Amino acid sequence: MAEAPSIIVVGTDTGVGKTVVTALLTRAFARAGRPVVPFKPVASGAVAGPDGPIWADTSFLAKASGVPEDEVGLYRLTKPLAPHVAARDDGVTIDTDRIIERFRELSGAGSAVLLEGVGGALVPLDDRRDVLDLAVGLGLPAIVVARPAIGTLNHTALTIAECRNRGVDVLGIVVNRMASNPGEAERSNVDELARLTGIPVVGVVGEIAGIDVDAGDLGEIDDHLDDIDLDALAPSLPDYQTAITADAEHVWHPFTAMREYLGEDPAPLMVARASGCQLEDTNGRRYIDGVSSLWVTVHGHRVRELDDAVRAQLGKVAHSTLLGLSNEPSAVLAGKLAEVAPEGLTRVFYSDNGSTAVEIALKMAFQFWRQTGRPEKGRFVSFVNAYHGDTIGAVSVGGIDLFHQQFGPMLFDATKVHAAYCYRCPVGTSYPGCGLRCLDALEEKLAAEAERTAALVMEPKVQGAAGILVQPPGYLRRIADLCREHDVLLIADEVATGFGRTGSMFACEQEDVRPDLMAVAKGITGGYLPLAATLATERIYEAFLGTYEESKQFFHGHTYTGNPLACAVAIANLDLIERHDVVARAARSADALARMLEPVAAMAHVGDVRRAGMMVGIELVADKSTGDAFPVAERVGRRVILKARERGVIIRPLGDTIVFMPPLAIPEADLRELVDVTAWAIAEVTEG
Ligand SMILES: *Cc1c(COP(=O)(O)O)cnc(C)c1O
Repeated sequence: MAEAPSIIVVGTDTGVGKTVVTALLTRAFARAGRPVVPFKPVASGAVAGPDGPIWADTSFLAKASGVPEDEVGLYRLTKPLAPHVAARDDGVTIDTDRIIERFRELSGAGSAVLLEGVGGALVPLDDRRDVLDLAVGLGLPAIVVARPAIGTLNHTALTIAECRNRGVDVLGIVVNRMASNPGEAERSNVDELARLTGIPVVGVVGEIAGIDVDAGDLGEIDDHLDDIDLDALAPSLPDYQTAITADAEHVWHPFTAMREYLGEDPAPLMVARASGCQLEDTNGRRYIDGVSSLWVTVHGHRVRELDDAVRAQLGKVAHSTLLGLSNEPSAVLAGKLAEVAPEGLTRVFYSDNGSTAVEIALKMAFQFWRQTGRPEKGRFVSFVNAYHGDTIGAVSVGGIDLFHQQFGPMLFDATKVHAAYCYRCPVGTSYPGCGLRCLDALEEKLAAEAERTAALVMEPKVQGAAGILVQPPGYLRRIADLCREHDVLLIADEVATGFGRTGSMFACEQEDVRPDLMAVAKGITGGYLPLAATLATERIYEAFLGTYEESKQFFHGHTYTGNPLACAVAIANLDLIERHDVVARAARSADALARMLEPVAAMAHVGDVRRAGMMVGIELVADKSTGDAFPVAERVGRRVILKARERGVIIRPLGDTIVFMPPLAIPEADLRELVDVTAWAIAEVTEG
């Protein structure tokens, strides 16, 4: 028979007899040759014993399982109150992370663990987390313990609905303390429970003669082992094989050399779940999400407030169009975006990804000049190494050869100027003595072409996809001034830098730059749903004001524009950013990160370490003294990130530049682990 799974035992209410059922399950599993260890992390309500206080539940479980009592329990609280209240009364705080850690120690020793919850599913453990959060955090399935009385359908249905909402699989229901002579309601409810919830009732436990939890008396418990049918439990491990096969046979992955991906050893990583700043794969292995699931995660994964925001909106409307209609979340979010954006950006045009947000800004700039009497201003200026997305317009203003060369003949012509790249300065000078000479070329181009130029588009403060190329202070300001001087619109692509990533809400703020148009996406929903926005000034917006006959409206729109679910979670994200002071905290984490990176910069094959807030690029070189690159065929960057994966860290290569940008709220311990493992992987590959 298979090993017993680790399970959380959740009551539909307090006093349904979870402890007795946990004891019974422990003994039933043991009898089946599948030993489990009971763990009751929080017990409240001590009774006076001859040698001091006694916690009846933990001592009972200890007795039923043979596990020492101090291993069964963790927090033992004096008063019979709600856990966090009883804890406060005892002058302690329940630390759910410590519970999770303790669980991992127990299961790490090779045992399946039966974790007994505290009261019902939603009983709070602290101000933020409740009993089900333990199941979510540990990826545990649940057994729900119900009572046979009238009212049980309601309580059980509520408990199971909440489990489902939170992604907790329910393996079965145990109805406890069925009278030997049950009434009709009690009897019929058992069948109804299974029928209505679709979850098997795996046990109907009768009253156990002689059992007395308070006195630690097991009574005739073993006479009831057959009351629970372990074989009737739903399978606890999801079958991922279908997904793995379908991935190999049908999914075409973006920016991925598929032959290499399919041949990966070990097999390609498939994420099954996540919590906090960690992802978990289909084998239960956990990884630090060093890239914020590609720039999007802000507070971590499975954030209660964000989960709730999506759910609450689901109860209202999932989608409704913005073409000529409105919906509440998109309107409220627009107001909030205008509030946090650089001054002057008051109009919000939604789309659903960063590329379209940029594309929209380009088209707005183009149409703007046509409707303000300067139709000849139709060209764009952009930068070498820029990345603005993958749609044709966004690629046309992009400047990463590897990504964009292929499509040359499809693109419109844009004026490209070189960008700041201080480690390999395009004009052979060095900051700060250079006086930003790299901008001379831009100045010349604008002087020559401004009359025909609609806008300049740039990633403010840092070119992300190019390998975190950080611009020197004053650079952005100077570009903004040049644009003003030449009456060229400034489009700030804050898709990557927005929402606190570089240490301020938006990167433009750092040089007090107010763009005419700004594209945002990635962090806008905290990593939950695809959403993007293009923000514009009143000056731009007014050029599009007109009646139907004038045809001045902006001829652009996507089906999912202003999707209510995405907007609702974006609102919750902005609220959390404000409430938890996320931007200022991330700036402090970034300072810690800077210190952690100092030894990395000194490594033999690290040419340059670049950082802007919580985004980092580490450029690896064959020769540190000359800056010579490794031969492309050596695939140094890729080998480093695969190496790091062995030790549970996900980072990305951009050529031979290793990049990471963890969730802004990453705990310091995870941040340190991320840097340490990255440095280790670099050393293994480049020095090993
Ligand atoms: C990622 C990115 C984009 C494109 O966003 P998508 O949502 O991937 O289309 C555009 N600009 C910048 C600066 C980006 O980093």
